[in-house]
Order: sequence, then structure tokens, then C-alpha cells
Amino acid sequence: MDRGSLGSTDALLQAIVDVPGYPRPGIVFKDITPLLADHDVSGRLVAAMGEPFRGKADKVAGIEARGFILAAPLAHLLGVGFVPLRKAGKLPRATFAEGYDLEYGRATLEVHRDAFEPGERVLVVDDVLATGGTAAAALRLVARANGVPVGFTALLDLGLVAVREKLGGTPLHILHTVAS
Ligand code: AMP
Repeated sequence: MDRGSLGSTDALLQAIVDVPGYPRPGIVFKDITPLLADHDVSGRLVAAMGEPFRGKADKVAGIEARGFILAAPLAHLLGVGFVPLRKAGKLPRATFAEGYDLEYGRATLEVHRDAFEPGERVLVVDDVLATGGTAAAALRLVARANGVPVGFTALLDLGLVAVREKLGGTPLHILHTVAS
């Protein structure tokens, strides 16, 4: 399919596949793998995610795992370094950790204690916002590690909750919000 002539939002929506019932009944999983496989579309969307933050971030932090895939090229595009925010127990050196609620149970994100110089401006990246719990934990974690969260960007907001309130004053740049 030639998505090259479409606007960014249309290209985004055409390149993401809804998978109803995955990983559990009642969930519609947003599969971004077709988007990632399209060089033109992924390049345009990564650029669109970063546009408001040009010259305003010193590091880009990606949330494991799909956030990594978008955050690494975005860091390169903005000319800054990439920092992984990983699931518990994956980083080899001393970490800070932040727990957060999932639909069932809890999870933890970790970052290396020396990932940021004090006061570095950090843009946090993920693919999809659902309840906002993961994003909120990521922003708290950056602050714990002496970074200054200057923004959060993602491809999609599923429109489930008032995410802006949950994420406080951090500027949000979400390419598309799904009507709930
Ligand atoms: P939440 O913490 O509820 O905002 O969930 C966001 C995290 O879970 C992100 O890292 C997403 O990759 C993932 N996620 C949640 N719901 C979905 C969904 N319907 N499709 C794809 N990923 C999702």
C-alpha cells in the first residue's frame, strides 16, 4: 500500500492493526508492527512525535519494550542520547525503581541511577497510552533520577481516561486519540 501520499494521522491509522481479544478478551490490541515495517510511515511518524521537542530535550527515554523502538530513532533525530526505562531486574547496575498498577497486579520500571546528569531535560516515549499508569510511573522515575521531564509523546491515546490530569503538567504530544 502506498501510504506516502497520506497525511500523518491517516497514515498512522492505516498502518496500525486492531487485534480484538489480544492478549485477553475485552482488549483491542494496537499492533504497530506494520507501521514499523513501513520505512516511510515510521520515519514520518517518529519525526512528528519529536517535532515540538526540537532543541528542548537533552535525552530521550523509551519505555520497554515498544517505546524503545520509537525512542531510539527519535533520539537520533533530535541529536541527543537514548535512555532505556526497563522492566524490573533487567538493568545490570544500580537503579531507581517506580511501581505502578496494571489491570491485574503491579509492575515496576527501572532506570540506571546515573542515567541523567542532574537537571537534564528528558522526553519520555511510548507507543500507546491506555490508563496512563505506565507513563505516570515513567515520569516519576525520570524525576527520581534527577532528570527534568519536559514531555511525553506517543502514537496513540486510547481515550480511556483523562490522561492529561493523570500526568500533571507535563506537556503531552500524542499523534492521535481514539474516540471512546
Ligand atoms: P497504561 O499503563 O494502561 O497506559 O498502558 C500503556 C502501556 O501498555 C504501553 O506500554 C502500551 O504499549 C501497553 N498497552 C496498553 N494497552 C494497549 C493496547 N490496547 N494495545 C497496545 N498496547 C497497549
